[in-house]
Amino acid sequence: MKIGLINIDSKIPNLALMKISAYHKAKGDTVSWFDMFETYDKVYASKVFSYTPDYAYYPAGIETVIGGSGYIGNYTVLADEIEHTCPDYSLYPDMDYSMGFITRGCIRTCNFCIVPKKEGHIRPNADIDEFIRHKNLICLDNNVLASDFGLKQIEKIIDRKIKVDFNQGLDARIIAENPDIAELLSKVKWLKPVRMAMDNMGEVDAVIKATELLRKYKTTPKAYSVYILVRNDIEDALKRVEICRELNLNPFAQPYLNPLSEKYAVSRDQRDFISWVNRKSFFKKMPYELFKIARHDRNAGVVPDKIRIALIN
Ligand code: SF4
Repeated sequence: MKIGLINIDSKIPNLALMKISAYHKAKGDTVSWFDMFETYDKVYASKVFSYTPDYAYYPAGIETVIGGSGYIGNYTVLADEIEHTCPDYSLYPDMDYSMGFITRGCIRTCNFCIVPKKEGHIRPNADIDEFIRHKNLICLDNNVLASDFGLKQIEKIIDRKIKVDFNQGLDARIIAENPDIAELLSKVKWLKPVRMAMDNMGEVDAVIKATELLRKYKTTPKAYSVYILVRNDIEDALKRVEICRELNLNPFAQPYLNPLSEKYAVSRDQRDFISWVNRKSFFKKMPYELFKIARHDRNAGVVPDKIRIALIN
């Protein structure tokens, strides 16, 4: 069989398509990225974001399987025999890291998040040996610290001296309540600084406590990243970001996007705020109020006065 793959919108290597590719290659099929001028026996397409338009050029008369979190209400999961196939890393020749899920699901039910709806409660998914083929690893787990199996796998990562990034973040509430977990994390070789989240003011105390513990046990680099969810209440997000600044943490702002919306509904205020936080040359140099004025000037075509230029530069 000849298989075509379509990655509609994922900006990072598409794990599901890599597994589908490996599964078909193991059966002797030919697999390649879809080319509309080629013919195929079967096509797979993956869409991550609900607001991305669907692919417009599906070939007629060919079996086409579409899936991914971007298809609202149709949260397909891979069949077990595909899920537990080592990804085909050759689809992305420049990849120098492995990818996978040690666990699936989460113990929490945050109302803005599709994980509980899509994956349910936390459970073991795969031993790292199933998918690791490099010295670097990106884990996509949503709450690995909530799982005893996840913690055992972290011990294995430490023993093997694998550099890891849990790029969906680690649960600060669990770290704050478990000094032994903070100590365990201090033994990890981090590919990127530890990531946590402060999605609302209710999570501030946990991030402060987790930061204290991580630093007490010398988890480095010490400027941990903190995801900041930005809803329409910019003042609330600003407070969380300034708390990160005081703690010498590195905030990374993300817009709140309704996972059930087919529109990229992000206001100009949200966009401006996120630009300010995530572009460190602005974030470090000027307060948000000034950035807003500079943005307003630019949008209105006004030439900034000298004081503003001095501050912006
Ligand atoms: S803790 Fe994270 S993964 Fe779990 S429900 Fe909340 S946002 Fe989603």
